[in-house]
Amino acid sequence: MAVTDHVGYAEFMEGVQKRNPGQPEFVQAVGEVAEDIFDFIADKEIYHEYQILRRLVEPDRVVSFRVCWEDDNNNIRVQRGWRVQNNNAIGPYKGGIRFHPTVNRSVLKFLAFEQTFKNSLTGLPLGGAKGGSNFNPKGKSEHEIMRFCQSFMTELYRHVGEDTDIPAGDIGVGAREIGYMFGQYKRITNKFSGVLTGKGLEFGGSRVRTEATGYGCVYFAQNMLERRGQSMDGKMCVVSGSGNVATHAVEKIIHLGGKAVTLSDSEGFIFDRYGIDQEKLEWVKEHKTHRRGRISEYAKVFKGSEFHAGKRPWSVPCQIAFPCATQNEICGDDARTLIGNGCECVSEGANMPTALKGIRSFKDAGLLYGPGKAANAGGVALSGLEMSQNAARLSWDEDQLQQKLRELMQGIHDRCVERGGIAGSDRIDYVRGSNIAGFVKVADAMLAYGVV
Ligand code: NDP
Repeated sequence: MAVTDHVGYAEFMEGVQKRNPGQPEFVQAVGEVAEDIFDFIADKEIYHEYQILRRLVEPDRVVSFRVCWEDDNNNIRVQRGWRVQNNNAIGPYKGGIRFHPTVNRSVLKFLAFEQTFKNSLTGLPLGGAKGGSNFNPKGKSEHEIMRFCQSFMTELYRHVGEDTDIPAGDIGVGAREIGYMFGQYKRITNKFSGVLTGKGLEFGGSRVRTEATGYGCVYFAQNMLERRGQSMDGKMCVVSGSGNVATHAVEKIIHLGGKAVTLSDSEGFIFDRYGIDQEKLEWVKEHKTHRRGRISEYAKVFKGSEFHAGKRPWSVPCQIAFPCATQNEICGDDARTLIGNGCECVSEGANMPTALKGIRSFKDAGLLYGPGKAANAGGVALSGLEMSQNAARLSWDEDQLQQKLRELMQGIHDRCVERGGIAGSDRIDYVRGSNIAGFVKVADAMLAYGVV
């Protein structure tokens, strides 16, 4: 094969931008990863010769489809659904499904791209994918949600399978939605298989899966702190979001002796000066998950707390920040505010919650910064274990799985350390470490397959 002229980072990104017009989130995610990869492969001709990075930023396929459903007033509603299968070099495609009005091709391509590196980093044999719809579950009745999920799966079923692509939950998709989709898959195919993860315990779900992403991102913070001889004990923590990831992050912060003082949703954030304890957290879980309520209600129920409408929690002084809501929720100014207020550590429960300028500020300030693709990988790792249990027709117990989650997060942390060392210092660039560790395994598998 001919030796290629090396394309530089700027030229490469120009091409990505040109080929993906109107897809800012995807271009942002590629830019963040490619910066580190270009540096790493500078002297590794084989990756250039086989155009590995160029191939990785072109998803294997993007399936787009119409989802029709009927609302409670008998109106016909039309939504768009997608499944982005980014790369299956190291295992079947795997990644969540998101239902949110902001979902589009760009958002799902960014998430599927990130997922490819994240899944590789877990050490499990899983490829990367993501899917979803611009359907807004907010304000919909139980039956409307059910009809939408069934219609969504009526198309999706032909693209997924236990050895092909195994979706899971994400924003707007929890155990209830997974139940409806699994039911429809089973009905259409007449197969009971591990095609989705995050299932109910009664039908093949795994213990600890619900908690895994939130718990995992706190373990990741703990691992970073321990490497510096510190612990979570007594640390003031600011958390954004109030869904699955955020509430379980708060739960683990409580277990490890930290003090969580904020939660948020798309309308604003609550600050509780006394800290969110387990009892208050149970109220939030019930209120947000089962009653589908707003976080502002918290301030009316619990004394010593206040609601800040239309704001994010990053101005509250803290030692550790856990962004657990959505992408680009920490901009450059927010990052500077956190640093100025003494924040020492950021561990991302959400995917790409920090914009590029914010990441630069965290790195320059020498913060312990755990990017989402490492810090929130506990969820997909546990999903991998749900797949193993389904394949073996087994169900592991809680203690076993809690222990496995801790080990998986430690393994992810250590892989980042191995690849992310900063020359001349004992500091770790966890972004670089996770990007390179995630890349190498996928890239080497792609080399083995030749040009496909
Ligand atoms: P949920 O739907 O359970 O909760 C999402 C939370 O984020 C809600 O509080 C929601 O508020 C808030 N939110 C969503 N969009 C916005 C927005 N545009 N602005 C402000 N707040 C917003 O989702 P999860 O907890 O499952 O997911 C949260 C994040 O974690 C996502 O980035 C997801 O990709 C990531 N993640 C999730 C995994 C999982 O296992 N569930 C695995 C790995 C990553 P509101 O109620 O007002 O919409």
